[in-house]
Amino acid sequence: MRDLQTLLDARRADGLYRSRQVIDGPQGVTVRSEGREYLSFCSNEYLGLANHPEVVAAFHRGLDEFGAGSGAAHLVAGHTRAHHELEEELAAFVQRPRALLFSTGYMANLGGMAALLGRGDRVFEDHTNHASLLDGARLSGARLVRYRHADAGDLEQRLLRAPDGEFLVATDGVFSMDGDIAPLCELAPVAQRHAARLMVDDAHGLGVTGPHGRGSVAAAGLDSCQVPVLVGTLGKAFGTFGAFIAGSDELVETLIQQARTWIYTTAPPPAVAVATSAALRRVMADDWRRKHLQDLVARFRAGAAQLGLGLCDSPTPIQPLITGDAGRAMRLSKALCEEGILITAIRPPTVAEGTARLRITFSAAHTEAQVDLLLDALEKVIATECAELAHKAEL
Ligand SMILES: *Cc1c(COP(=O)(O)O)cnc(C)c1O
Repeated sequence: MRDLQTLLDARRADGLYRSRQVIDGPQGVTVRSEGREYLSFCSNEYLGLANHPEVVAAFHRGLDEFGAGSGAAHLVAGHTRAHHELEEELAAFVQRPRALLFSTGYMANLGGMAALLGRGDRVFEDHTNHASLLDGARLSGARLVRYRHADAGDLEQRLLRAPDGEFLVATDGVFSMDGDIAPLCELAPVAQRHAARLMVDDAHGLGVTGPHGRGSVAAAGLDSCQVPVLVGTLGKAFGTFGAFIAGSDELVETLIQQARTWIYTTAPPPAVAVATSAALRRVMADDWRRKHLQDLVARFRAGAAQLGLGLCDSPTPIQPLITGDAGRAMRLSKALCEEGILITAIRPPTVAEGTARLRITFSAAHTEAQVDLLLDALEKVIATECAELAHKAEL
């Protein structure tokens, strides 16, 4: 039997120990924790909807009408009018014939892939895809082939080398840890040439990019033939909880028959669906949120360039600052915390070895002044770090 404490100690020594911070109150750009208020730059709540009065009021209405829980799986007795209407609204939003609600994005990816693939099939995935897409491949029993990040040419080479069979190509729309956008206009024709189904997980694109927030697939002008499997999550820009897969009638019917993470689990509370419908209305109507978010990102990138901070080439609200080793990411995160700024360090295995980072994210609820506060704090903690290093070198 492995000694767990020894393994935990080793993890801690490597700067890879994970722990939670208790947040006391609603999500927002300021959060309370252990009696102190922090300015947060690490949530995926890109549009400021998690505590929006209309969304919260809809949640209350949903509770009054449907009670707390759904009581059963969708196929048993748990599928309410609230779920059904939300599915129709989401399908219309992403301009696909149908959408199917899942409890989480993780479950959508696992269930979707396992429903479409089996032993003997092949799934081609971008090297930096989200963990749930990689785990989905594993659960499906298909052979996983990883292609170079955002490289349609490499994907094509690997498709050419594969023996005939059932192929699925899966990619994040916006990459969750780097913030760059998949080259969907290049991937789609490659997938089509090799009769591979293309699945895009747009967890960080929906609500944030594309016309009226329709995401990176709509921004690339791709329809449901070119991207037959579209995954969206509702816990990020939408500010609530859950996920969906959108596509053709046949796709959704196949998922209903075969997606085990959908069949064998309790339907989400209907009130969540009512709240999400309200959030969707704000997502579609409030173009100003996306515009403001873009302005904040531009302001941050300009300020960071002036400070000489090397940022990734990301046009989205995900603006990682690569620190390299995990220990440095932890130290900077801790120093920022002391300045009242919350940014969690992201370390391997979530990101590749040697690319630990501060994953800085912006929300439409941030102000320009708050972006300036962040830049000042980054300047201060990095200057302090440099001074300490110089001091150590002298000793
Ligand atoms: C967050 C995320 C998921 C998981 O969604 P949950 O609803 O949080 O389970 C899936 N894919 C990507 C790319 C994500 O970033």
